[in-house]
Amino acid sequence: GFTVGVLALQGAFSEHVQLLRQAAKELKQRKCADIEWEFIEVRTPQELARCEGLIIPGGESTAMSLVAARSGILEPLREFVKVQRKPTWGTCAGLILLAESANRTKKGGQELIGGLDVRVNRNHFGRQQESFQASLNLPFLGDTADKGADQPYRCVFIRAPVVEKILPHANGVQTEEEERAETVVAPSKTPVDELAKQQLSKDVEVMATLSTKTEALQENQEHDHAGKEDIIAVRQGNVFGCSFHPELTEDPRIHVWWLEEVLKAAERRQTFELADRTR
Ligand code: GLN
Repeated sequence: GFTVGVLALQGAFSEHVQLLRQAAKELKQRKCADIEWEFIEVRTPQELARCEGLIIPGGESTAMSLVAARSGILEPLREFVKVQRKPTWGTCAGLILLAESANRTKKGGQELIGGLDVRVNRNHFGRQQESFQASLNLPFLGDTADKGADQPYRCVFIRAPVVEKILPHANGVQTEEEERAETVVAPSKTPVDELAKQQLSKDVEVMATLSTKTEALQENQEHDHAGKEDIIAVRQGNVFGCSFHPELTEDPRIHVWWLEEVLKAAERRQTFELADRTR
């Protein structure tokens, strides 16, 4: 069987577990994926160690990283994402924690896990549209979900971050500009050479964007959104993040897609391990 975890320190973790169960049922109905799944809430390094994949839910990223640091799971999380490179999906606050760089808000910054070579802007949509919904076509669902792949997905945004920049560097090396902007940057464990950095940042795939043309957003003084496309979902290797909250809908399509990604990653891992043993 496969164990998949949901980080349960704070936020909407039980909703994720629910949708994972629903997604597993759908996968089972397809003959090609007859797999026993176990979904667990993760609070300790021991629980994390059992997981083939991990979801970091929406909530409050500052609170989540404080609890993570206090309970000694922050470093193991960094290991999981960046060294073991296991599939990890962050939603909203989870996306913030998986970014290599995030801005501080009035309430302060937080330690990041990192893994995505992007800079996120927290609470991007400002006060007037802190929370809203948008029905969007998510192209990446196209080739996996067999039914309703062309149906728009109802994306729930709650004080959502967006990816404002794909970083031209990797592993938390700060640019002067970011230093000035009082950025929180995920610490790097292993030094990465210039070439590897470039390759890593090239790998960031934009998975979905949102065009923010509504009047309310145009009136927002803090950011100039008019006619812009905001990046609301990205993937880089094993790490996937989205600005919105799929766990607050009843639509399991992204969870189905992501569980399939977990399976693919586990298969790759097994192949490598087999190759290692037979060498
Ligand atoms: N604004 C929150 C943060 O900065 C994220 C909000 C959410 O997860 N809904 O962590």
